[in-house]
Amino acid sequence: PVSIFWFRRDLRLHDNAGLYHALRSGLPVLPLFIFDTTILGKLPDRDDARVTFIYRSLLELNSELENHGSSLVIKHGKPLDVWELLTEDFNIKSVFTNNDYEPYATQRDAEVSLLLAKKNISFSSFKDHVIFEKSEIVKEDGQPYSVYSAYQRKWYEKIRSFHLKSYPTEKYYNKFSHIRPVIQPSLEEIGFTENKLTFPDKEYLGVLKNYSKTRDIPSIPGTSEIGVHLRFGTLSIRDLARNGITQEDRTWLNELIWRDFYAMILWHFPHTAQSSFKKNYDEIRWRNNEEEFRAWCQGKTGYPLVDAGMRQLNSTGWMHNRLRMITASFLTKHLLIDWRWGEAYFARLLLDYDMASNVGGWQWAASSGNDAVPYFRIFNPILQTKKFDPALVYIKKWVPEFAGSLNYPRPIVDHAFARQRAIAEFKRALTPK
Ligand code: FAD
Repeated sequence: PVSIFWFRRDLRLHDNAGLYHALRSGLPVLPLFIFDTTILGKLPDRDDARVTFIYRSLLELNSELENHGSSLVIKHGKPLDVWELLTEDFNIKSVFTNNDYEPYATQRDAEVSLLLAKKNISFSSFKDHVIFEKSEIVKEDGQPYSVYSAYQRKWYEKIRSFHLKSYPTEKYYNKFSHIRPVIQPSLEEIGFTENKLTFPDKEYLGVLKNYSKTRDIPSIPGTSEIGVHLRFGTLSIRDLARNGITQEDRTWLNELIWRDFYAMILWHFPHTAQSSFKKNYDEIRWRNNEEEFRAWCQGKTGYPLVDAGMRQLNSTGWMHNRLRMITASFLTKHLLIDWRWGEAYFARLLLDYDMASNVGGWQWAASSGNDAVPYFRIFNPILQTKKFDPALVYIKKWVPEFAGSLNYPRPIVDHAFARQRAIAEFKRALTPK
């Protein structure tokens, strides 16, 4: 008999909550990963960089496991089908995993858990991806917070060193089931090709000290760029938060709390993945001009700062936070294009794409979210340039043909006109009928 640990967005042995509990289950632990064809089937690009990232992380995991006499079992298919087969191939007593809060994942886990229950196999899932989850931080009346500052205050009230302690998985590595190395499928066998992007490394300590001074300057590496490692769990949130909390300046830790906050929001309000948090914002008549959308995607709006942000995303899979705010505001306000179009474009390309934070960020920019920017506050790309890239260093890096605004293609839309148009439409949509 064995226990199985099912890896998903927690691709590490170190400080892994569910894995820790599996290793202490008393049975040998078989490590498993499933390339879920339901998720992979929706990816438009065969060379999707996230799939390459996952694949490489799995190979690293596997070689670590081989050092402990074990090996990673990698399957490819629909999770329910895979589990059906696994229960035939192995004498499974219990399955361990970590919580995933996205709507698809919660439904999948409910179905898998039901299937296993019918076969008398227990299914246990643990908090690992965030510091506080679900309803751990709620208002006095038990309702979820919708305002970040109040949530943050409660987060600080509740936090104890216990929440930030690492799970000492390394004490139990001898509990992995001893199997001969499993032959791993190639990327091609699961229908993908390798993406040659260079992925951000796991080093982040260097930026913490001066983060509040450097975080808003897109031309310098002033933020950690570890989002992708949080997304796939190649770093532990507890390690990060512990390093964040010991800083005199808590600005960086507060960003990790935003991440907890958005995960909590998506968990309580799963419909916000598709529709506005504030219902009346679904009344907005988006213009949805496809040509303008294409220009935005390609970084050809005629606003060099907006274009620089989009080109950074297109060529690296990462965009600086200030630019995410500016480009998202530009799409939804200047072009009056549905935030869902922009959300989907970011989802396609961001290495650190995370449904909760991406939807949260987009609904913030479109003003339709809880605790969002008021709709009449519309970023002016020219003023933003003066403030955050006054020497045009960032712009020139990503838009090399920019040699002064006179030579650059004309803006796709005039700022003052677009601003008025957006305010008028938002006002119309939000006026009670
Ligand atoms: P750092 O500034 O070093 O912060 C460290 C970590 O804290 C980040 O890696 C991230 O996990 C978390 N974090 C930082 N800022 C935020 C925030 N505002 N909300 C939630 N978590 C945060 N973040 C994502 O992780 N995935 C997304 O898909 C995503 N989409 C976004 C879309 C829009 C329109 C906007 C405005 C923001 C989005 N963000 C998203 C939030 C933020 O822009 C990124 O987390 C950040 O830029 C990642 O860079 P970094 O790793 O250097 O972050």
